[in-house]
Amino acid sequence: MNTIEKMSLNNLKKGWGRASKVTIPTLLSCLSIMIFTPFMVLYFYIAAFHFDCSLVGPISQFSNASFDFAKYLPSMTIGAFALFFVWVLFQGILAIIPDKMHRIIPSYQGGDVLGAVTPAGLKLPYKINGLQAWVISHIAFVGASFGLGLFSPTIIFDNLGPFLWVTNIAGFSLGTFAYVKSLYFPSFPKDRKFSGNRFYDFFMGVELNPRVGPIDLKLFFNGRPGIVAWTLINISFAAAQYAKFGTVTNSMLIVNFLQALYVLYFFWKEAWYLKTIDIHHDHFGWMLAWGDSVWLPFMYTLQALFLVFNPIELSLPYAFFVLALGLVGFYIFADANNQKDRFRQSDGQTLIWGKTPQSIACEYVTEDGVLRQSRLLVSGWWKMGRHMNYTGDLILSLAYSLACGTTHLFPYFYFVFLSILLIHRCIRDEDRCFSKYGKKWEEYCAKVPYRLIPYIW
Ligand code: NDP
Repeated sequence: MNTIEKMSLNNLKKGWGRASKVTIPTLLSCLSIMIFTPFMVLYFYIAAFHFDCSLVGPISQFSNASFDFAKYLPSMTIGAFALFFVWVLFQGILAIIPDKMHRIIPSYQGGDVLGAVTPAGLKLPYKINGLQAWVISHIAFVGASFGLGLFSPTIIFDNLGPFLWVTNIAGFSLGTFAYVKSLYFPSFPKDRKFSGNRFYDFFMGVELNPRVGPIDLKLFFNGRPGIVAWTLINISFAAAQYAKFGTVTNSMLIVNFLQALYVLYFFWKEAWYLKTIDIHHDHFGWMLAWGDSVWLPFMYTLQALFLVFNPIELSLPYAFFVLALGLVGFYIFADANNQKDRFRQSDGQTLIWGKTPQSIACEYVTEDGVLRQSRLLVSGWWKMGRHMNYTGDLILSLAYSLACGTTHLFPYFYFVFLSILLIHRCIRDEDRCFSKYGKKWEEYCAKVPYRLIPYIW
């Protein structure tokens, strides 16, 4: 049987990237995201710094005739621009220096690693050194602030408002640069996706793996300045809580610990990250450029920010409950991701929960017309549900929120956001898997009928 016959037998399409038809509702949702999300971040900033994290506080003032909006806006400072520039440059340097970590820790997969096959049939090389960058950045920050006293560890908290301006300018500029680059000097022209609508292309991105010199823009902005900063921001917020109240509460320690675990896992498994939807399928446009620059550092750290203004000390049993819930969530998240990674890397020659894994052999066709083989795992977490890695992530994020008590909605925002993101992702990913694997994907869905919650959905 030739490739064409196999393609039609299994409903396979050549290539399998994102949908190319853009509807009016899709355009309207993209436009609303672009307009409202920057204001949403500003709203949370105002709620935190002027209303002790009450989400109804700012709204109740907006209706007041004497309300002076300008009074609540953060200031723009040259210092914040300089700090941001130095930070991104520092991360850029760390991203291109050779990895030494994989020599120190042999089980860590760092150094030169190949990514997954792209729709155009390419396998791109990546420099994996994120763990090293994270460790150096943290030693530098903690050493220079707590150790040498060169600056206060609250520096990030103190400059949060000005950073809001800087990162927004950076995010919008980066999104524009990514679009212009995709049109005039693309890195891999065959892996571009044009939808026929310029605004949608600007928003969702055209290039799959844009590169500038040795830097892969998507891996760098998705996985460096913002994610390395995540744990530093949390440390700075803990220092700010100490400066304000003379104590660091157990809730702040739990949030710092659980989020550091998540971030460290990300860097420990950076080679795995190359095979996830972010790198493997999403194109680099405004959504990722702005999201990485603004949304991630500001909205993923809301729990620790909340605790700066609301120093909640949890009772010991409740603290243990939240910690245990977070660790269970982390275990499911990490173990599910590890199972798939191990299975794919060993081509099925591994054990899942002590047994030889079950799987479905499937085929797909890249844009170059080559028929390729793959396998879908049907054992372990991947037998219980099709996205149990998301389930674990959601349980973990619920624990971050519960660590902040139940008096405010503010620290629950991340959990609500992640639920919407991951539910939408389940559907988006499954559409893509169906167009990639055709009937074999349907066979997998029949064997594993639930998505996130076994026996429910
Ligand atoms: P996955 O890691 O689940 O990747 C989905 C891909 O895995 C599919 O497109 C398919 O790709 C492959 N696949 C699906 N089912 C199987 C199977 N049974 N056996 C083998 N391969 C399979 O999803 P994501 O990339 O979205 O997420 C990775 C992690 O990152 C998750 O744990 C998620 O919770 C987390 N995440 C966190 C976010 C945050 O903001 N905190 C945002 C997004 C994700 P292929 O083409 O290779 O077959």
